[in-house]
This record gives sequence, structure tokens and C-alpha cells, in this order.
Amino acid sequence: MSDQGNSTASQEVECLLKHALPYLYSRGFAMIPPSFQKGHVIHAPFSLLPRKIPRAAYERAYELANPYSQLVDAIARERTWLMEVLKETGEADEFTGRLMSIMQRNIEEGDDQPLFLGIHRSDYMIDVGSDGRSEPSLRQIELNTIASSFGCLSSIVGDYHSYISDRVLLDNSAAGSSLSIAKLCQQKDGTFKNMTRPSPSCALISASLARAHWEYVSRNPSNRGKTVAFVVQAEERNFQDQRQLEYALWHASWKDRTFFDSVPSHFDLQWTQDLAGKIPVRRVTLEYMHEFGISAQPVAHNAEVSASAAMAVAGSKKELLIPKEGHEHLPPSERQYEEVSVVYFRAGYTPSDYPSEAAWKGREVIEFSNAIKAPPISYHLVGKKKVQQALAAPGVVEKFLPETQAHLVRSSFAGLWTLSKAEILANPEIVEKVLHAYDNIGKYVVKPQREGGGNNLYGLEAKRALHNLVQELKKEKGMVDEFQNGEDVTGTISSTEIAAYILMERIFPDPEPAKLVRLGEVLSCDAICEFGVYSVSLTDVSQDYKKTNFLLNSPAGHLIRTKVDGTDEGGVAAGFAVLDSPILIE
Ligand code: ADP
Ligand code: MG
Repeated sequence: MSDQGNSTASQEVECLLKHALPYLYSRGFAMIPPSFQKGHVIHAPFSLLPRKIPRAAYERAYELANPYSQLVDAIARERTWLMEVLKETGEADEFTGRLMSIMQRNIEEGDDQPLFLGIHRSDYMIDVGSDGRSEPSLRQIELNTIASSFGCLSSIVGDYHSYISDRVLLDNSAAGSSLSIAKLCQQKDGTFKNMTRPSPSCALISASLARAHWEYVSRNPSNRGKTVAFVVQAEERNFQDQRQLEYALWHASWKDRTFFDSVPSHFDLQWTQDLAGKIPVRRVTLEYMHEFGISAQPVAHNAEVSASAAMAVAGSKKELLIPKEGHEHLPPSERQYEEVSVVYFRAGYTPSDYPSEAAWKGREVIEFSNAIKAPPISYHLVGKKKVQQALAAPGVVEKFLPETQAHLVRSSFAGLWTLSKAEILANPEIVEKVLHAYDNIGKYVVKPQREGGGNNLYGLEAKRALHNLVQELKKEKGMVDEFQNGEDVTGTISSTEIAAYILMERIFPDPEPAKLVRLGEVLSCDAICEFGVYSVSLTDVSQDYKKTNFLLNSPAGHLIRTKVDGTDEGGVAAGFAVLDSPILIE
């Protein structure tokens, strides 16, 4: 680029930043810095320009939203299958095993709550192959069934991209003549059109929580105050993304039309008119739930509090009660309680959310209560990467979905293979695949059963993880072991432990120039993106546990995370990616 080109580009960036930061700050696009310095907030990382997404891929990802919710629910009704698929994983991975033992108790004693709330996000990349020349195709990276975050910040960044595009198109001088935005809006016929797509995720995720809350209130009438509880980490940096859901719920009252007017009619909130008062939210930790949460048949650990619970609760239903705000400090016999209608987990997905036995007990207090859970533990376990891999085996997803939906869902799968030695040896094709992966590791990713970013293994690290397993497979097959290119590899994971991991084909998205903003600094680079679509569902199994009855099943907006090309991991909170939004291209 010429000097003049460079300076025009940097003027444009300066001008866009002057618009972006005030807009985003005015909407609460904020996070707490990693230092957790008291009173400090920073803007969440974002992309200065929206991201080009082919319309066909965008529409396909939306089309997949309802079938994926249907799939999660169908698997949750087949808990024996789920336990069987996760058996070896649960033995090798303590965290998964512990979650399974909680679900086992639900299987034995029965669920107390027939309504299941799903708030999922299915994440995809658009694959063009390792040589960058394949026909673009949408491939699922993973399905998040717990704590799917960024619904609210995604809405804000999308609104900003839409706003700045409109301003540039309205009057080229108003936003300092942003050539890049104008170019993004230019159609094939030379005309200009704003094809950005802001995400309705903040409104729709809160609408799903409101819908579940009102279902609970109408089915469990009592004079006791009802509240939604968000289970959160004790220290949370992404506070705005959660708080905006909380405030949307507070305004979900018929007196405040802005909430209802933003929610489509298939959410069927109309019937709630008589109930629809303001919905309070309490933020609790798992440890708080152990110390203060009670249900009518209390878990034996908390005898002192359970005595007062017995007084507070009539009947045998296991209502989940927490002390009114501030009553925690009173002696147990003087506390007053409120009833939790819906528990929304924004924590509990990673081992570090369980720093003590008390946190696990807190999870049990919730799981064995009558509150509606988002997600119930079965949905949480369906989101395990081992389940994603098991579904990709021939004929498996077809067991859970009608033909058309199964076909659609399968078309979004990348290659996924087991790393359980017994399962591999049962199928010669998988033996070949694992050996191929070992010798061509750049085309694969090795994934553990973890969430939150930063856990996957790539390159030499992945090869080391496979090493012991591959040596044993070769021995079983009577193959001579040769080191490739004289490369010596030391195994890091035993062939038993690797059963808790899966092998996945690596997806190669097409890099595009981007401007990524962190702490007000702009990085111009080639970047790739991950495109996620939220889906919300509410099912009722009070009639028949095996049969899904959807009260609600809907896509609920989207999320784009963009990262520098060549970065292996994703995740905004983990520091790899920035928040972005789509601009559709044909
Ligand atoms: P987590 O549960 O930690 O979010 P993911 O499966 O989403 O785990 O992986 C984390 C990140 O790693 C993704 O956001 C994506 O950037 C990258 N990634 C995961 N799987 C693949 C893959 N098959 N090909 C390319 N990148 C991948
Ligand atoms: Mg992910």
C-alpha cells in the first residue's frame, strides 16, 4: 500500500474508533479487566467492521437451531444410552464421572420437575479445506448446552455494526467516509445496502427464561415470592452479559411494552398477561446453594437449616428455597425464604467451578429440587464432546431424530473419532484414522471433555497425547514402529486416560482482513471466525417421559467470534477472540 493509502486507512480507523467506543460504552459493552482491580471496567474486545458471512451458511445455521434442540432433548429422554456412551469417559475423567453420578440419582429417584429449559449455542466454522480450495461448508465445532455466553454483548456489537453501516450509507461524510464499510455494503449490481444482521439473542434468551418462570408460577401457585436464580462464579469478568439478562427479566412486565414487542409471537408469552409482573433475579454461587439453599426433602448435609425448611414448606414437592436477600445473616429460625422458579447456570461447567465439596453439594441441592433448570444435568451431559463424537458414528443421530432433521444435522458434522482403545480396535477404519492422525497431526485436533477454551491439543502436543495409544495399536496390529523424520515423541497420556478425549478433523476457515480492537488498540490482521446460533427450548414431560412435548423451540440469535488466523484456540473471555457480527454476502 502507498503512504497515502496507509494514511487514509489509519484515518478511517481513527474515525471508526471515535464512533465505536462511545456507542459501545453507552450500551454497556463492558467487562471487568483480568486484574479485577476494584471499580475498573474495560470494553469487551470487538471487531471494528462486521464480518462477511455467505447468506447460505447463515441461513443453514439458523435452520439447524431447532433440530439441535430437539436432538438434545431426545437424548436426555434416553438416559441409559447417555450413561452407556459416557461410561468409559466418566471412568477416565473424574469431573464427567461426578456429573454422571448426579444424573444416576435422578434416574433412580425420578425427576421432580417435568419442564426442561434449554439455552444452547451451536458453534460452526465455514470450512474451505487445508489448501483453502474446497467448496465452503458449514461444520459444527461444538454444541454448548450449559452457560452459553455472550448473547447480550453479541446483540450490542451487532447493533453497532448496523448503526455505523447506516450512518456511512446515509451520508458518506457523517462517519468520515468509511470506505471499508461502504465496500462491505456494496451489492453485486453496484448499489449499496445495509446487510448487517444484529442478533436478537439478549431479548430472546431472557424471553425463554421469562416463559419458564411464568410456567412455573402458573403451575406452582402459592403466596411465596418467586425468583429466578443465576448460578455464577464468585469472580465474574463478563458481568454485563449476565446483568443485561437480569434487567431484561425485571422489565418483562406488561407495563413495559419494549420487552414484549421485541419477542416474536411463537414464544407465546401472551397467555402470561395475568401473571406477568417484574421478575427478580438472585445471583448465587454453588457454595451459597450448599450453605443456604434448601428443598422440602433436604439433602442430609444441612440439618440445622432443614429444620426451618420443614416449617417453611408445605406438602412433599421439593420446592427450592433461598433466604430473602440479607436474611442469610439472621439465625436460621428467623430467616424468611423465597422460592426459586428457574435456575440458570452461568457457572458449573468446569472443574474450577467446584473448588470444594460444598460446591458439589450445592449442585445437588439444585438438581434434586423442583426448580426448572437451564440446563438440567442430562442436557449438560449431552453437551459433552464424547456425545458429539458418538453421534457422528454411522446411524446414531438417526436414532434420535426424524429422517429430514437427522440428515440436516449430520450434514453439519466434521469428522469425529473415538480415542477409546477398545472402541478403536472394534473398527479397522478407525485404527487407520488414528494412525493417519498421528502422522498428519496438523489436520486434526485432540479434545478433552472440557469447556471454556484453552483446553484442546494441537500439533506436537496432540501427537504426544496420542503416542502411547498409537504404540499399543501398532503392537496389536503387529506393525513395525518407525519414527517419522527422525522425530522422537514422548507420550504424555496413557492409553486409558486418552479414552476421555476425542479426535476431530481440523476445520480450515478462509482468512479475511480484519481490525480487532482490545483496550482501544487496533490490530489489523488476517482473521478467521466462528459463527454460533443460539437456540432456546422448553419441554414438558409430565405426560410421557419418553415423548418430547415442546412448549417452545426457537432459534434465538447468533454470535460471531473472530480471531487472528493461525491462533489455535477460540474464546473471548479466554483472551483469544473478539466479538463480531455478520454482514451477509450472496
Ligand atoms: P471449548 O468447549 O473449550 O469452547 P471448542 O470445541 O469450542 O471447546 O474448541 C475451542 C476452540 O478451538 C474453538 O473456539 C475453535 O476456535 C478451535 N477449534 C475447536 N475445534 C476445532 C476444529 N475441529 N478445527 C479448527 N479449530 C477448532
Ligand atoms: Mg467452544
